[in-house]
Amino acid sequence: MSNTDFIMDAKERALNGQKLDRESIIGLLEIDPDSRDAELLGKAAREVAGYVTGNRASVWASIGVDYRKCAMSCNFCSFGQKWGLVEQESERSTEEIIGLIDNFVSRGARWVTLRTTQFYGFDKLIQLIRDIRSSVSGDYEIVVNTGEFDDEKAMTLADARAQMVYHTLRLREGTDTKFKPEERLATLGCVKLSPLGLAHLVEPVGIEHTNEEIADVFMKGMEHNAILSGVMARVPLPGTPLADRAQISEKRLAQIVAVTRLASGHQAPNICVHPPSPLAIQWGANIVVVETGAIPRDTGDCDREWHEFDMNTAKDRFTSAGYTFFSGE
Ligand code: SF4
Repeated sequence: MSNTDFIMDAKERALNGQKLDRESIIGLLEIDPDSRDAELLGKAAREVAGYVTGNRASVWASIGVDYRKCAMSCNFCSFGQKWGLVEQESERSTEEIIGLIDNFVSRGARWVTLRTTQFYGFDKLIQLIRDIRSSVSGDYEIVVNTGEFDDEKAMTLADARAQMVYHTLRLREGTDTKFKPEERLATLGCVKLSPLGLAHLVEPVGIEHTNEEIADVFMKGMEHNAILSGVMARVPLPGTPLADRAQISEKRLAQIVAVTRLASGHQAPNICVHPPSPLAIQWGANIVVVETGAIPRDTGDCDREWHEFDMNTAKDRFTSAGYTFFSGE
């Protein structure tokens, strides 16, 4: 089958709600991102995005709650204690977080994510969610991005009115991280059995990852019922062990986004790209992240939107790609 036929076949299957198998995913990832075929792939993914999402695009706002040295020292993360990049630890107060969320929600954020380090207290997180719910009205969804948890804690999160969890099996989990893959998969299993939705990106993608590794991590998210997928690139941070390995090109990022769009059928209508590449939005991503506070891809505690990428810039980027901005039901 020619690449053109292969892409058209994948598009038809995605429109019909069929997910792609591993072999097809790897085949699409093998297309040269600088080729005409990749452009065709991107165009197909954008058509599917229009159909599956009702041509709507939304913002995922994310707040880094605590800025701390983390003993897990993942090879790609600035918080790693071993890398010595965190000079002054800090934590946002509940009032500050409520103010930030109120601002994001009033400007149309559909999700607000509380990003905490691996060992942020669980009870504290639950109280924070309750305080936010009682202070900020609106149709937004609260997402938690925290450490490992069990079935009971998953139910407690849902009872506190968190709707979604961001959790992933990272690329080279157990090699570039100190976690056993089974520990991360156990938490994903708890999310699957709970009322919480799962957001699972393929991350952090670098030039070192093979197409097979990318396909396998994507499929793990799908197996655990991810309703939001997509791709996050690894940022080569000076001072971390992976600093000398370059960031993937924008075309490669957009290509992987396009493949996740075609591969997820109707299961994950929301496909996110991070950083918010304009090309990836044209090639099928309909979600971007606006973030502030402690950011594991940077040093210091960011007191504005990261890289000045704010709600208005996000909306403009969606409009340029032909989407309608959507802030929730
Ligand atoms: S990615 Fe998470 S677990 Fe790993 S070092 Fe950073 S904060 Fe710790």
